[in-house]
Amino acid sequence: MSASTRVSRRRFVGGAAALGALPLLSRRAAAAEVDVVVVGAGAAGLAATRELLRQGMSVATLEASSRIGGRVHTDLARFGVPYDIGAHWMHLGATNPFLRYARDNGFDVYAAPTEETVYVGDREASEAEYAAYDAAYEAAIGAISAAGRQSRDVSPASVVPDGGPWHDFVHFLIGPWEMGKDFDGFSCADWWSGDDGTDWYCREGYGAVVAHSARDLDVRLSTRVRSIDWSGSGVAVETDSGSIRARACIVTVSTGVLASGDIRFVPELPAEKLESFHGISMGFYDHIALLFDENVFGTAPDEYLLYNASTHGAHSPALMGLLTNVSGTGLTLADVGGDFARELEEADGEAAIDFAKAELRKMFGGAIEGHLVKAHFTRWGRNPLTRGSYASANPGAFPLRSALRRPVGDRVWFAGEACSPGEWATVGGAHHSGEEAARVVAADIRSA
Ligand SMILES: Cc1cc2nc3c(=O)[nH]c(=O)nc-3n(C[C@H](O)[C@H](O)[C@H](O)COP(=O)(O)OP(=O)(O)OC[C@H]3O[C@@H](n4cnc5c(N)ncnc54)[C@H](O)[C@@H]3O)c2cc1C
Repeated sequence: MSASTRVSRRRFVGGAAALGALPLLSRRAAAAEVDVVVVGAGAAGLAATRELLRQGMSVATLEASSRIGGRVHTDLARFGVPYDIGAHWMHLGATNPFLRYARDNGFDVYAAPTEETVYVGDREASEAEYAAYDAAYEAAIGAISAAGRQSRDVSPASVVPDGGPWHDFVHFLIGPWEMGKDFDGFSCADWWSGDDGTDWYCREGYGAVVAHSARDLDVRLSTRVRSIDWSGSGVAVETDSGSIRARACIVTVSTGVLASGDIRFVPELPAEKLESFHGISMGFYDHIALLFDENVFGTAPDEYLLYNASTHGAHSPALMGLLTNVSGTGLTLADVGGDFARELEEADGEAAIDFAKAELRKMFGGAIEGHLVKAHFTRWGRNPLTRGSYASANPGAFPLRSALRRPVGDRVWFAGEACSPGEWATVGGAHHSGEEAARVVAADIRSA
């Protein structure tokens, strides 16, 4: 019932340039001397690597973890069905390079359905309640858009009118569920700068597409970069397993990792650069993944299930947004965000899963738990290689987006989702940012 298109998640992406045609043989730079070191093998690092190779550069791509993909990865082992532990929505379908790649390489992709059902307590919302939700949503989006259009670098908390009983629910949809931040944590100007478009899904998982597209690239896994010395000509990149000299490097780690100081820069980076790592800060967004033995919600494949609970004007609404029956499987992604997600991450072992079970019990009764086969909580903020889910500008920090993108000393370049002008917080944006940085670096090296 009540299938509608009320949820208009601004779950972005883009970029027309197709991924380089496969196979493109990668060239491992055997010596400890290469043209470019790429730090990180997420979507940005992989795109940078491919573009540099295409331009005839020698490249060393260093990845701290034991796999490629970073925040886009499909886990098959845990549930026996494709489980995207990070990105799942293929945003901005019209220009998403991975959508095109997936189609060309036999993946099963389809436009994301937009149906949603909203619950209030243990029943579906009435027509009057849906209307109140719509009104509150429109008012909030209208206020944030108006501020954004005027480049007002202020938080939604300062412009969104009180939406009455639907205020926290709408706060959750636009803030924690979309941005990974509460209404006081991001800038309307930054929000407005994000591109919008249609979403797609891949039955085999978004991470599977990205991994497939990079299967021919030579990445040095389990190689953590500890410091980058840019004091002389070129750079010296220190890792757990030795040092590599290069003419330039492209750093693609998250702003969370950069802000943590995990990678030491010698000499220290300029103040504005350091400020940008903190100003374009990471949000918190996590999946509480639930595998059921049957369609317990009675919803269609990939249907959203949302609910309004009285959260009393919470600073960070304690709500989940559910994507049910992912690609027709028994998997449901119950997603939390903002400071509430961070609190769940910091709580003991099963707190997030217990929260999800308790919320579902309120809606569907205790029997639902009997159908729960397995669950998992992602905790992206606790992952030292990401330290959050994706970034956005703090209120007042929107100008730091461009500072983040700026290279230092013409030899330390930055790329990744947070460096994308319009496709930030997305896999496609990370890809385009990496590709663009590689193009500029290659041109720079060639002209030197
Ligand atoms: C839960 C969740 C849901 C999301 N949903 C979506 C979605 O539906 N659609 C969408 O488009 N986007 C989504 N995103 C955002 C998307 O996943 C990211 O924007 C994108 O994957 C970031 O790519 P990146 O290359 O910039 O960074 P990363 O993927 O973080 O890549 C950086 C790499 O650097 C490595 N690294 C870190 N430190 C070091 C070091 N010291 N030395 C060497 N390597 C290091 C990391 O291990 C990582 O592999 C989601 C993210 C999360 C967490």
